[in-house]
Amino acid sequence: MMKFDHVSFSYGDKAIFTDFSYEFPEGKITAVMAPSGSGKTTLLNLILRSIKPQRGTITAPEKIAVSFQEPRLLPWFSVEENLSVVLTKKKRPGVHATIKEIIADYLQSVHLEGELKTRPDALSGGMQKRVSLARALCYLQIENADLLLLDEPFSGLDADLHREMRGLVQLAAEGKTVILITHDENDLCIADRCLRL
Ligand code: ADP
Ligand code: MG
Repeated sequence: MMKFDHVSFSYGDKAIFTDFSYEFPEGKITAVMAPSGSGKTTLLNLILRSIKPQRGTITAPEKIAVSFQEPRLLPWFSVEENLSVVLTKKKRPGVHATIKEIIADYLQSVHLEGELKTRPDALSGGMQKRVSLARALCYLQIENADLLLLDEPFSGLDADLHREMRGLVQLAAEGKTVILITHDENDLCIADRCLRL
């Protein structure tokens, strides 16, 4: 279950959420749309428990896959290692594909099959963003996470790539609870619901 129950949160005297309640539908994609600076990333940080509400309760699953607004890649690891390092499972019983193969598949899905051994610093911002997306989707699948958080995952991508990555998210996230933060009304085509802050 992913829900906010009468949550209030402020940074100092700046109120971001006041008595906010919302239950995200299970197994569905909810788009979160709001102007810049209105608390979308704060919502994610509350879910991840990196900040605590002053009032109210947040119920969130234990295992969460995330793609942050900034790619947050580890610079001393290769692209491939950035995907594997977050995994706790090194083997999948009963599944033929190895973790390495699944990682390679996801990197191919985001068109980075030629960059497995590259360090993040050598990639463009848009490429780093796609590594971060591939890492979240790979973690979601391999760790069987219950929730996928995506903070503006498509920003900075050109129109064709944007459309393709949107399709990838829709496919990879089937049956999972997804919170998709976006500015783009076109992304609503993959969402079951929209929360406007
Ligand atoms: P969004 O993701 O919707 O653009 P954020 O959740 O990042 O918005 O931020 C919401 C508001 O809170 C903004 O006005 C921002 O300046 C402020 N804010 C964000 N993080 C902090 C922080 N650590 N300390 C103080 N204010 C913050
Ligand atoms: Mg933000």
